[in-house]
Amino acid sequence: MGDYVVNPYIEVRKNDNVIIVRMYSSRKELKLTYDPALETLLSIGRQEDSTNWFSTISDKHHVSQKDYESALHSLLEVGIVVPRSATSNENQMLNRQDVFFTGAGFNGPEIRERLEHAKVLVLGTGGIGASLTQQLAMVGVRNFVLVDPDTVDLTNLNRTSMFRKKDVGKPKIEVIRTWIEERVDSSHVSTYRESISGSDDIVRILKQERPIDLIVDCMDQPSTEQTGIWVSTACWEHKIPHFIAGGYNYHGGSVGQTCIPDETACSNCHTLWLKEKNKFQDSGSELISRAKSGGSYYPLVSLVTSMQCAEIVKVLTGYSQPLFTDTQVEIDIESLELKLTEIKRHKNCTVCH
Ligand SMILES: [Zn+2]
Repeated sequence: MGDYVVNPYIEVRKNDNVIIVRMYSSRKELKLTYDPALETLLSIGRQEDSTNWFSTISDKHHVSQKDYESALHSLLEVGIVVPRSATSNENQMLNRQDVFFTGAGFNGPEIRERLEHAKVLVLGTGGIGASLTQQLAMVGVRNFVLVDPDTVDLTNLNRTSMFRKKDVGKPKIEVIRTWIEERVDSSHVSTYRESISGSDDIVRILKQERPIDLIVDCMDQPSTEQTGIWVSTACWEHKIPHFIAGGYNYHGGSVGQTCIPDETACSNCHTLWLKEKNKFQDSGSELISRAKSGGSYYPLVSLVTSMQCAEIVKVLTGYSQPLFTDTQVEIDIESLELKLTEIKRHKNCTVCH
């Protein structure tokens, strides 16, 4: 038998003739008939250096190899015992994340490896883009392409924890690159200090940096609608999943949409549907000027980007179905209500049809 440990996410108790196992992640309680050999197995399997369970249990309780293997197999099936590789790896920074996913019934090491090998293109590293990049690096993404023309301003420090006073005046993408390189082993970050002004710019970067596994659109100039259309146009042509990150105003945060070419609605579909529902009617009026910067509140930025990061991990690893496809997701920081609006492909969309 290989090398196993008791799942670190369970609690083991005994009561009369029963061993009670509480699974923290699923909140289930399993009851096993009491057996002194089983109690020993669940005790020594907790130890960091437990490598030869069988000889310990066999010496103490006279258990045969066959019975031991049979018991171990049953415990593996219900998740009471897990492979040691699921709880410790060379990348110690992510040990606890492996334990988290493994304890929740997924393959922790496989999820980590997929994130480590993924390459993400982030367009726009303002409040949302910088925070989301930081979160993706924290969960194990190592390869980034960052695109943004701006330098760090003192007013950015209320919502971007990577920026410090000494960074004011430096290009945002370079400050973020340094943060990632100092924090994440074997990271690789490419930077493009420029403004994107159409889907051709995105395709040019895609060709230079391929293969890209996912694009995140966090640009807001000239408008989030316009940049979303550029990104979906480039991505539909090159079949790249993309996430159109939302923004926030007052107490509402728009979390964004996951778009998967040939499977879901694109960013333009969302814009077309939302225009139809919009209470402001643009027809007949001419745009004179548009708000360029609004208020920002760190808890809202943090909440929105945490939800975005969890969604992107699903897209990159496939461990679970993404939730923000064909859906507009908004969160209200005041009531903590989550509003989901279904958005299907629009019959008049020229980007995804
Ligand atoms: Zn569309």
